[in-house]
Amino acid sequence: MIHMSNVSKIYENGAVALDGVDVDIEKGEFVFIVGASGAGKSTFIKMLFREELPTSGVLTVNGHDVVNMSHKEVPYLRRGLGVIFQDYRLLPDKTVFENVAFAMQVIEAPRRLMQRSVNAVLDVVGLRDKYNCFPAQLSGGEQQRVAIARAIVNDPAIVIADEPTGNLDPDTSWDIMDIFKRINKAGTTIVMATHDRTIVDTMKRRVIAIEDGHIVRDELRGGYGYEA
Ligand code: ADP
Ligand code: ADP
Repeated sequence: MIHMSNVSKIYENGAVALDGVDVDIEKGEFVFIVGASGAGKSTFIKMLFREELPTSGVLTVNGHDVVNMSHKEVPYLRRGLGVIFQDYRLLPDKTVFENVAFAMQVIEAPRRLMQRSVNAVLDVVGLRDKYNCFPAQLSGGEQQRVAIARAIVNDPAIVIADEPTGNLDPDTSWDIMDIFKRINKAGTTIVMATHDRTIVDTMKRRVIAIEDGHIVRDELRGGYGYEA
């Protein structure tokens, strides 16, 4: 599903964010990316949906060669991915329904299919009764659930999340993790960068630890580790 071979990323200012990273992630895996601030987690995540390009190395995601890809192919790569951010990134002047439907309009889905799919994913995240609300009328946890609904409405092969619980209290974070668990159980690959030690230690999933741009640990049922 995801293959990285000797991937490095050096930003224009010379910052080495990733240095010779080798990783394979298979379909259906649930992977945590952990590491101190500045370790390279966000860069790792951003390369998966081609927000940043590797400076060198091989990167394939869901069958797409991310490095040698024409601009026309980028939407096809992204269509197979659902991306979730710490700050939700909802459209403030659109309702819950519209925020999720918007992700489908981009791929020109027929209207009835769209309504059925949006309602189905709002059920998955437990927000069907809020479909007419605007983001500002929702709690942080509810906004993140809308973002998850938007991310999964096109049935992506991979869900990519960068600190999705970073702004949420522990109880709300677990609500979010329960949704991720369900999505993963249905077969979707999940790659999630996080600082949340309790979540990582409790879930006992694959842990990839990054330090100064290097993978220093890759364990199938790992914990958060020692670094602060
Ligand atoms: P993390 O997500 O683990 O905090 P990042 O991937 O954001 O780490 O950053 C890794 C390194 O790359 C850091 O040294 C950071 O300062 C640098 N970096 C990240 N983004 C940029 C950028 N757009 N331009 C220059 N340097 C960057
Ligand atoms: P309007 O009433 O102007 O058509 P709405 O926002 O109420 O606008 O609904 C737009 C469409 O979406 C309607 O056809 C509505 O039935 C449908 N819809 C979307 N989500 C839901 C939902 N969760 N429950 C009921 N209807 C929904």
